[in-house]
Amino acid sequence: MVHLLKEMEDFAKKNKVPIMLQDGIEFLEQYIKDNNIKTILEIGTAIGYSAIRMCVNKNIRVVTIERDKQRYEEALENIKKASLENQISVIFEDALDVNIEEKFDLIFIDAAKSQYIKFFEKFEKNLNKDGSIISDNLNFHGLTHHKERIQNRNTRQLVNKINKYIEFLKENKQFKTTFYDIGDGIGVTRRV
Ligand code: SAH
Ligand code: MG
Repeated sequence: MVHLLKEMEDFAKKNKVPIMLQDGIEFLEQYIKDNNIKTILEIGTAIGYSAIRMCVNKNIRVVTIERDKQRYEEALENIKKASLENQISVIFEDALDVNIEEKFDLIFIDAAKSQYIKFFEKFEKNLNKDGSIISDNLNFHGLTHHKERIQNRNTRQLVNKINKYIEFLKENKQFKTTFYDIGDGIGVTRRV
């Protein structure tokens, strides 16, 4: 398992797949253990790295969504190598087109940054009463707090979108979010 994870980390680096940073994924693993989380919905599988690591025990069930064919296939292969096919299901589709009835203890949002508000609004109905929504990449490599450093117009637009999402979370009356400066910036959101 350690070997497979190392292989995946090297692959991600080489192919520029934005998998979670070490301290971020460790935070997530600990959160799952501390809150006795059993069911997880992940938006953004990539190659299956975080899905595999979130399986901290045999009782965890992960449903994860990926819209990129190649990454989806790589994820399936890695999940097979990890022998976690019975714990992780991968859906190959755009998350905004997926319809899921099931409710989850944790929803982990780690996909296109421009769509975070849409993901949140679409999937909050899939969250158990005491569940948590965790959002990754809220710091966007430190750029959300330092807009003056941004040269590129697309990047600036993305940063604006993330800042809108952060505002959206802060203003949401039904949910309370705690922001952590861990990994690339993590938000933990729970119903009030
Ligand atoms: N959670 C992974 C990393 C995900 S990277 C890990 O830490 O290991 C983000 C992934 O989200 C990319 O592979 C991208 O193709 C996918 N993605 C982006 N927008 C999406 C959408 N609307 N629906 C499904 N997948 C999406
Ligand atoms: Mg991420």
